[in-house]
Amino acid sequence: MSERHYLDHAATSHLRPEAREALIGALGAGNPGGRYASGRAARALLDDARERVADLLGCEPVEVVFTSGGTEADNLAVQGLYLARSGSTIVAPPVEHEAVARIAAHLAAEHWAEILAAPVDAAGRVDPARLPELDRRGTALVACMAANNETGAIQPVAAVAERCRAAGVPLHVDAVQTAGAVLDASGAPTPFRDCGAATLALSAHKFGGPRGIGALLVRRGARLAAHVHGGGQERGLRSGTPDVAGAVGLAAALAADRAEGEERRRRLRALRDRLREGILATVDDVVVHTTEPALPGHLHLSFPGAEGDSLTMLLDAAGVECSTGSACSAGVHRPSHVLLAMGVAEDVARAAVRFTLGWDSTEADVAAVLAAVGDTVSRARAAGMA
Ligand code: PLP
Repeated sequence: MSERHYLDHAATSHLRPEAREALIGALGAGNPGGRYASGRAARALLDDARERVADLLGCEPVEVVFTSGGTEADNLAVQGLYLARSGSTIVAPPVEHEAVARIAAHLAAEHWAEILAAPVDAAGRVDPARLPELDRRGTALVACMAANNETGAIQPVAAVAERCRAAGVPLHVDAVQTAGAVLDASGAPTPFRDCGAATLALSAHKFGGPRGIGALLVRRGARLAAHVHGGGQERGLRSGTPDVAGAVGLAAALAADRAEGEERRRRLRALRDRLREGILATVDDVVVHTTEPALPGHLHLSFPGAEGDSLTMLLDAAGVECSTGSACSAGVHRPSHVLLAMGVAEDVARAAVRFTLGWDSTEADVAAVLAAVGDTVSRARAAGMA
């Protein structure tokens, strides 16, 4: 195979060496529920992972509930908060990930929930001043993601949290794209204890950890119904024998992610800006969907006149791995609900491609896109829209 260049870190990142080593080292761990020596050894590994995660994210160890990933964490939060409350309204912007949007839709279909859309502007950001009326008895929860998986737009979560606090309504934050944190204006992570959320979802494979493990941070005192019933593990919210090795791998990846901090953000921003300027200098008539404040590695664009699927296939053939950014259902690619909510025309939304950089991205990855993009867009535009 020719040299490959990976620019789809928002979908999943490569496993970091630290996480691989930690994961492999703990793969033989037994059941942490066992009262004998091997069980106690597994429990010590799990407790240590939980403490490390709590320390890195600024919460208490008891507030870390390990799950199978971001989707499960979002489902546990939205359904758990909804079922534990008396109110029936779920307030969420129309740009949330399917892991939040679909469980809310399920609650509407099966449990009488009413979904109220929080209006977003042309960049897909929630306007806290235009949030629907919140009240303790009527509103079950508000959901607001930390940053959007397609455009990278950072949401004004602090202002949303303030509205929720004033109304006494719990807030769920999907922080899957931000390695488990609400970001401040400079893009730096806010400790969970200060962010105002009742629950916050994260997923290890988005920051260099293993796939199949994540966590929901659940504030002490938050009322939440369990969604998996059984042996009562993970505070009784998520029963099942825990994945000790996964938790250890998650903690190692998170530690590496946090250690890189601002330096990585600066490096990725510089690479991403070069990518954007290079594309704009090479191709005519490009629509840029990523606007500041945004995640440093995100660049979401449309090439009107070309089909997003054709573009990603041609880029793949040129050695560049990227995606359209939106989910594909049963092989049928629909225009992104995020772009449509931002008011982007359907044909422009169908012409979208998302490039996302991550911890091991290099100049060579950017150069590979710039070498291929001109020819790729010309060919895809010649083929036209389906
Ligand atoms: N939430 C967001 C914002 C995401 O980007 C994703 C994955 O793309 C998820 C939730 C789901 O996470 P997971 O793949 O760990 O289930």
